[in-house]
Amino acid sequence: MTDSQLSGPEPDPAGDAGHAGHPPRVGFFTDTSVCIGCKACEVACKEWNALSEDGFTLTGMSYDNTAGLGASTWRHVAFIEQSAPPVPAPEGRRELPLVQDASQSAGGEFRWLMSSDVCKHCTHAACLDVCPTGSLFRTEFGTVVVQEDICNGCGYCVPACPYGVIEQRPSDGRAFKCTLCYDRLGAGQEPACAKACPTESIQFGPLDELRERAALRVDQLHAAGVPEARLYGHDPTDGVGGDGAFFLLLDEPEVYGLPPDPVVTTRDLPAMWKHAAAAALSLAGGVALSFALPALARGKAQVRR
Ligand code: SF4
Ligand code: SF4
Ligand code: SF4
Repeated sequence: MTDSQLSGPEPDPAGDAGHAGHPPRVGFFTDTSVCIGCKACEVACKEWNALSEDGFTLTGMSYDNTAGLGASTWRHVAFIEQSAPPVPAPEGRRELPLVQDASQSAGGEFRWLMSSDVCKHCTHAACLDVCPTGSLFRTEFGTVVVQEDICNGCGYCVPACPYGVIEQRPSDGRAFKCTLCYDRLGAGQEPACAKACPTESIQFGPLDELRERAALRVDQLHAAGVPEARLYGHDPTDGVGGDGAFFLLLDEPEVYGLPPDPVVTTRDLPAMWKHAAAAALSLAGGVALSFALPALARGKAQVRR
């Protein structure tokens, strides 16, 4: 594997994985500004993939019972409650919904940030790079899929993921995550979560088209008086070569539990191996010298006698 396949811009991940004549790369653009937190995506994912429920106890941190992505939660809708200063809407436009908070006597306002999180199907996917069995692989659609019948439960992929997405199932140690509905894509169907979303917050399609659509949506929101709208994971020059699943956010990534500057964790592997090889060579040279020098000294002493 070359350095460029581990990091940096990578225009054709499926082709470089050996898929000749592959279809266009597909992915998700999740526009969190129109998410209503209905969780239809979470439920559709569980239903299609026959995933178990996670219990119905609220976390106490928010109106949430799943808390994050995991082995049985491949879509997770975050509910983030935020104080928000009143923002005057530009003339002729409606502002994003702000709700009067009855608990704030000063008439303060708050807003919900809702965001449906998922595996990012990274251009440079460290989970795939470190998998020793080939359970994780790059599909012809450019997505990253884990195969439950090949996973041996080693867990190497879990710390390798810069987003904390993939998780081992406690009962048998095998790793699970979103497959971007590989089975449905093969049958020409869109993923179950995107199909179930009533507001088109989750948009599925060719990645190039989604990036264009997302840039237009950001311009639209800025013109509508929402300057905080920004894209996350769309940039092919970022630390993971851009995500196959990227987002429009209304605040900093950290607010949504996303790393602000993710980097593929295998990026430095070639340099580390070079340093390790140099260190091993020096050690071997030192050991050889430690035997050779005394032998040389003994030889000289015998010659003098
Ligand atoms: S987000 Fe994590 S699990 Fe998903 S492809 Fe990237 S490295 Fe793999
Ligand atoms: S693409 Fe399929 S597997 Fe992935 S979150 Fe959506 S429904 Fe679940
Ligand atoms: S289905 Fe759509 S609107 Fe409902 S929670 Fe999921 S992303 Fe948000």
